[in-house]
Amino acid sequence: MKIIVIGNGMVGQKFCEKLIARAPEDLELTVFGEETLPAYDRVHLSEYFAGKTVQDLCMKPMSWYTENNIDLHLGDPVIQVDRDGKTVTSFDGKQFSYDHLVFATGSAAFVPPISGVDKHGVFVYRTIEDLNLIWRHATVARSAVVIGGGLLGLEAAKAMLDLGITDTHVIEFAPRLMPRQIDEGGSHVLTGKLRELGITTHTQKNTAVILGNETITGLMFTDGSILSTDMLVISAGIKPRDELARKCGLALGHRGGIAVNDQMQTSDPFIFAIGECAVHEGAVYGLVAPGYEMAEVVAEQLTGGARDFKGFDMSTKLKLIGIDVASFGDPFIGGDEARSIIYHDDHKGIYKRINVSNDGSELLGGILVGDAETYNKLQQICSNRLAVPASPVDLIVTGGGSTPGAADFELPAEALICSCEGVKKQTIEDAVVQNSCESFDAVKKCTGAGSGCGGCTPMVKDIITATLKKQGKAVRNVICEHFAYSRQELYDLAKIKDLHSFDEVLDTLGTGDGCEVCRPAVSSILASLWNDLIIKKESATSQDTNDRFLANIQKGGTYSVVPRIPGGEITPEKLIVIGEVAKKYNLYTKITGGQRIDLFGAHLNDLPLIWEALIAAGFESGHAYGKALRTVKSCVGSTWCRFGLHDSVSFAVRVENRYKGLRAPHKIKSAVSGCIRECAEAQSKDFGIIATEKGWNLYVCGNGGSKPQHALLLAADIDSETCIRYIDRFLMFYIKTADPLTRTATWLNKMEGGIDYLRNVVVHDSLGIAAELEAQMQTLADHYECEWKKAVETPELRKRFTHFINAPETKDPTVAFETMRGQKKAAAW
Ligand SMILES: Cc1cc2nc3c(=O)[nH]c(=O)nc-3n(C[C@H](O)[C@H](O)[C@H](O)COP(=O)(O)OP(=O)(O)OC[C@H]3O[C@@H](n4cnc5c(N)ncnc54)[C@H](O)[C@@H]3O)c2cc1C
Ligand code: SF4
Repeated sequence: MKIIVIGNGMVGQKFCEKLIARAPEDLELTVFGEETLPAYDRVHLSEYFAGKTVQDLCMKPMSWYTENNIDLHLGDPVIQVDRDGKTVTSFDGKQFSYDHLVFATGSAAFVPPISGVDKHGVFVYRTIEDLNLIWRHATVARSAVVIGGGLLGLEAAKAMLDLGITDTHVIEFAPRLMPRQIDEGGSHVLTGKLRELGITTHTQKNTAVILGNETITGLMFTDGSILSTDMLVISAGIKPRDELARKCGLALGHRGGIAVNDQMQTSDPFIFAIGECAVHEGAVYGLVAPGYEMAEVVAEQLTGGARDFKGFDMSTKLKLIGIDVASFGDPFIGGDEARSIIYHDDHKGIYKRINVSNDGSELLGGILVGDAETYNKLQQICSNRLAVPASPVDLIVTGGGSTPGAADFELPAEALICSCEGVKKQTIEDAVVQNSCESFDAVKKCTGAGSGCGGCTPMVKDIITATLKKQGKAVRNVICEHFAYSRQELYDLAKIKDLHSFDEVLDTLGTGDGCEVCRPAVSSILASLWNDLIIKKESATSQDTNDRFLANIQKGGTYSVVPRIPGGEITPEKLIVIGEVAKKYNLYTKITGGQRIDLFGAHLNDLPLIWEALIAAGFESGHAYGKALRTVKSCVGSTWCRFGLHDSVSFAVRVENRYKGLRAPHKIKSAVSGCIRECAEAQSKDFGIIATEKGWNLYVCGNGGSKPQHALLLAADIDSETCIRYIDRFLMFYIKTADPLTRTATWLNKMEGGIDYLRNVVVHDSLGIAAELEAQMQTLADHYECEWKKAVETPELRKRFTHFINAPETKDPTVAFETMRGQKKAAAW
């Protein structure tokens, strides 16, 4: 059987793999690829900018094609198909005959007909070659614009940031971002998240002209406004590569694409089309998973099987570090057909919407922005039509059990876990039981699960863990495929081997280039291990964006300044300095729930000047922007209150000063109350202390916010020194073992043995590590340094606080204010 595949992209290559796996007799497989490289992982293309090489991205080495007798012709596109003679002719003039022909020509970036698209500095984002051109140009560019606020456009914009272009804009024609995946509310929250990253978005903007002579200098929009820029990346959608099919007379879809039936046959029964070049029932699928399913269908058809393509679930998760966006099922269904439940917290930047059937029994779809922890679970409930809780709101407000994976609900064996590779739950379980695959990496190699977009990784890990547990085996929780260590092991090894940067850790202990799981995890480990300046260049790329400017970016594009006020205690002199600074830099002032004074509305380039003045008056960074200790709130205690048993203020000041600057998997809050009346609300904190007749009660793992949880008593009636020792142990144990972005409450909820186990470790030293934990905390406390002090004293770091690199004095012109109750507020934004 002679089969020719036109196109050696992701789907063309996968088809070859699937066909060869079925070992058909007398197979003669010929592949033509227009690109000069063998098929590479386009889904992870952006990782090329993060250090992945062409070799890393290639799906199979050249030797694989030789070993499997595939006659591969690269850099040689097919230019003609003679359907009557059943032959193809390539650009180089090669002619081959076929029994069956498979079009896997993919798609090209859609470039709207805007005047000036041919100017120097205008790019598309599709191939490694495109990325090489972008990279070269980015070295001299100061600003970049991406046209297209969809999945790929946002990925391209993030890539511009990673290339060091801090002035990056996204232009979207529709009234909202990611219009195919999320609604207005989700888009609103996403806009804020992107702004925090440093990406400015403009919706409802139609580009009329690309300005400049030979090289782009800006864009003019149909509303007459102009945006200056040094480069433009167009990511406005895809256009199926159907030109060859059109030329040989195959039927096309109304809006392009090679029309196929359920067997992926084109209008010529000897010719199939798969991947992004195919249009099935009017849909062109711009994702890899449906393409792989199409490849499976054709491989089956050609080897005597009878599989059909029945459309595909378009659930997606954006893969940008620091931004959670996902949609599943039908994200927009509503009106008479369904009921929507929406949770929207603008303050925290979280938007969740689920659509349930009118009788409340079925989950039909949803949108998650700002917190997509439950994406896998909700997607599985939706696609497998699993039972919805009696109160469906629990699915988004409490997380319906709050685990991101599959561990806490039973999926059917047939549940599709990895849609990219078509791997079912049963296949993963079989790999664990029958093939002794006991790690994510081993299961990935064996089944392919998790090797596509990677979105199913938490779920695959959960299934492995659950299967191992069922077999009575111990579970080793390695951090990701790049490190064969748990977080705790990695922490200890980084310490023993004196490793201070992500690259050092990866070179010494890992493999590959790292990923969105291990980069922030290692970064957080290093920050808590060495108390190194978070603002250092390398950290800035793998830590939160707020850490980049040591401030929270606020509505309207300004920043907040939050000096530390230990225990909420402040002298009149310091109050006056805060007032003076606020007046001089026109800042809005507010007393917060954490008992300090926040100053809002600071321009980026004023930040170092403001902090200079505050530091001179004895203030330090309050770390309100970091995953670090925030405040230790206190009541007035025995000094002033007639009920007070002990001096809660002095103890809060001591505790806050001991742990200030401590980097952790998530923010940490604390409080000290002078008696059981609990005016400081210590039982809602990560650790809280309440005075008793005999000493202090220490409570841990409480939480306020969207999932309130009361703290649990860890130790009762302890003296101050013991209390500090227990907190040292508790915090160090949390830092070493919790996953990134896990608050203490969630960490405890997932801990086997719960509070009893934690008490055994912290109070009874069941693991024999108490002395070590205390010593480690002491080292961190000894190395504390105010990072704002360091930043204002270091000329190189100060340079970062400019809105325009070539005009450091110039403030962001897009920032505008209005007056409210005698102070300023950000103008409607
Ligand atoms: C930056 C980026 C990020 C993405 N992220 C995701 C994601 O997170 N999740 C997801 O599911 N999808 C993602 N995608 C989409 C995914 O990459 C595509 O769905 C997938 O690559 C489609 O595979 P394909 O083989 O159909 O097309 P392609 O990968 O485009 O391959 C087609 C190949 O055919 C070649 N060709 C065309 N005409 C001819 C000819 N006449 N002769 C010979 N060869 C020819 C082309 O040059 C190309 O090499 C992303 C895409 C990009 C660009
Ligand atoms: S907690 Fe007790 S000591 Fe503190 S202010 Fe309230 S009543 Fe007074």
